[in-house]
Order: sequence, then C-alpha cells, then structure tokens
Amino acid sequence: MRTRTRTARAAAGLTAALSLALTACGQGSEGGSRAGGDDAKGGTIGIAMPTKSSERWIADGENMVKAFRAKGYKTDLQYGDDKVENQVAQIENMISKGHEALVIAAIDGSSLTNVLDRAKDAGIPVISYDRLIRGTGNVDYYATFDNFKVGRLQGQYIVDALKLEDGGNTGEKFNLELFAGSPDDNNTGFFFRGAMSVLKPYLDDKRLVVRSGQTRMNQVTTLRWDGGTAQKRMDDLLSRYYGSERVDAVLSPYDGISIGVISALKSAGYGTEAKPYPVVTGQDAELASVKSIIAGQQTQTVFKDTRKLAERAVQMTDAVLNGGKPEVNDTKSYDNGVKTVPAYLLEPVSIDRSNTRLLVDEGYYEADQLK
Ligand code: BGC
Repeated sequence: MRTRTRTARAAAGLTAALSLALTACGQGSEGGSRAGGDDAKGGTIGIAMPTKSSERWIADGENMVKAFRAKGYKTDLQYGDDKVENQVAQIENMISKGHEALVIAAIDGSSLTNVLDRAKDAGIPVISYDRLIRGTGNVDYYATFDNFKVGRLQGQYIVDALKLEDGGNTGEKFNLELFAGSPDDNNTGFFFRGAMSVLKPYLDDKRLVVRSGQTRMNQVTTLRWDGGTAQKRMDDLLSRYYGSERVDAVLSPYDGISIGVISALKSAGYGTEAKPYPVVTGQDAELASVKSIIAGQQTQTVFKDTRKLAERAVQMTDAVLNGGKPEVNDTKSYDNGVKTVPAYLLEPVSIDRSNTRLLVDEGYYEADQLK
C-alpha cells in the first residue's frame, strides 16, 4: 500500500540510508520510504535486460550503466537469459535490495504484474524500456522507438524493392513469406501491424502472394525471437510450398530471425546468380547483419540507436527520482491493458546497402568493423 505520491515522497526527502533501513526491517512498504531529490543520487538503479544473445541488449545495458554513472548513480545490471523466471527473480532481488528505481526490458511483457506490485509497495518507480510492460498500473514511463514505424519501414522496403508502387512493375506477382517476433513481446504486434499496413493492399490485389497462406500474426510468430526457430520454419515453408516456385521477399522483424531465414534459403540453394536471395528485411543493425547486407545476403535492417534510447531512459529515471516530469512525446499509443503509459518514441531509420555508411558516420560502428 502506498500512502503518498512519489512527488510528495520526493519532497519529504528521506535519505537513502533510512529507506534501506526501513526496507531491511520489512517496513519499506509503508508510507513510501524511497529517497527523492538529491538523496536519490548515489543510490542504485536496477536494470533488468532480457538476454545477452543479441548484441543490442548488451549495448543497451552498457550504455545505461555509463549514463547512470555519469549522473552519480550506481547500477545493478542483470540479464534474464530469456527466461521469465530468471527475470522475475532478478527484479525481486532488486526490490529487496532497496534500489531507487527499476528500468526493465521485459522478456514476457505480461509476466511482471505480481513483482511490480511489490515494487509499488516499496515505492520504487518503474521505467519500461523498449518493450511495454503490460497488465499493470505500476509502470510510470516508457522509453522506446516508434515501433509501428519500424514495421512500416520494413513493409515499405519490400514494396519499393519489388517496385510494386505506381504501377512500377508490369503487374508481375511476387511470392512473400511473413515472420513476426515473439508473441509475448508487445512490440511484435506493432512491428507486424506496421508492416502489414503497407503490404495489405498488395496482398489484397494478389500482386503479393503468400503461398503458405500464413498471414495472420499468430501463424507467423517466433517465440523469444529465436533465429533457430525461424530457420526451421523457413526450411519447412520452402520444402512445402516452394518446389518449383521462388520466394521473392521475406518480412523479417529482427536481424537474428533474418540470419535464420537466410541459412534456410542457402540450404535450399538460394544465393546464386540463377537463384538470387529474396528481399529479406531485419531490425537492429546488428554487426553480423550489416555485414550480410554488404555481402548481398540480407537486404535491409532498421537502425535504432540504442545509445539514444539508453540516454532517454536515464533522463526519465533521473527526472522521476527528482520529483520532475520526464519529457514524453506520445500519450496515446501504448495502452498496456491497465493504463496508457506516457512514452517517448525515438525515430528508427531504414538501412540497406546504399547507406550502411550512416552507421559509421553516426559513430555506431567503426569503419573497420564493417569490413
Ligand atoms: C526490440 C527489437 C529486437 C527484438 C528482439 C524487440 O522488443 O524492440 O529491437 O530486435 O526485441 O530482441
């Protein structure tokens, strides 16, 4: 039970030491004992990230640690190894240790309701990072990218690459297969709907044909965004539906999935002059995929500058802990089932062979890394 607002608590300015002592005596939940104002500085921020199996989350974690430290906080960075129970235990532990605030990129967006009740009781603010935490009122702010736009960029890339717009082709039909992300990640629907909003007219007029007939999101998701799972599904699609036909484009929502898809394509004999790779989209501009784009395998990715996201989440957390109001630019899109979470959306950028240079210009990669 929380008896005071966070702002009131911040104004009360109890020290972090007192807050810790109260928590240790099991009294932390009463009256909101978190420190606010300058006392929050020097406190520890719990950062719960999903997995180290993708570069981006490693970078997100490291970037936040740096930015929090620069503002005078300590950090407790944990990775859940894509296992929900690990992440819940890590967050429980952060709450028990009396951390000042939690920044969480959920593994399963709907599995944190109980643990976040405990965070609320302890008066600990929660920032949802990149992925929306669902089914709880106990999430204060959300820092992410324009996730619908990520999907639109992927869909539009396919439309442009196949020259579907403006009668740019001769009415030729193209074969497309669709992949979506993990069904327990709120972003998955945003990416998929964003892409389908662009692809739908061409599916309707049959210039794009999904030979497998698998066009609904629940038919094409990839649990935990796993590349191996995507590879198996692509193997299966190719052997069942593409005997004498060729697939011309694959909507992939994430670079790790794209790599799985490309491996399946390669095994089925794609990647030759007679049988070139189809258009394959992606997301995150992971190093292996940027190299694959340069090598002419993957076609596109969506660059989301994780340094900017980390910076944004740190600013939000710092503002909340100091009784301020973080800057947001979206108060409508992210209804988590209990509340619409005020969000700051950053801009994603489409990358293909023609503009990988941007990643070097922006300092995201060194030129040598792309060789
Ligand atoms: C993130 C993507 C990432 C995916 C898999 C999503 O929630 O927004 O950037 O590719 O998870 O890790």
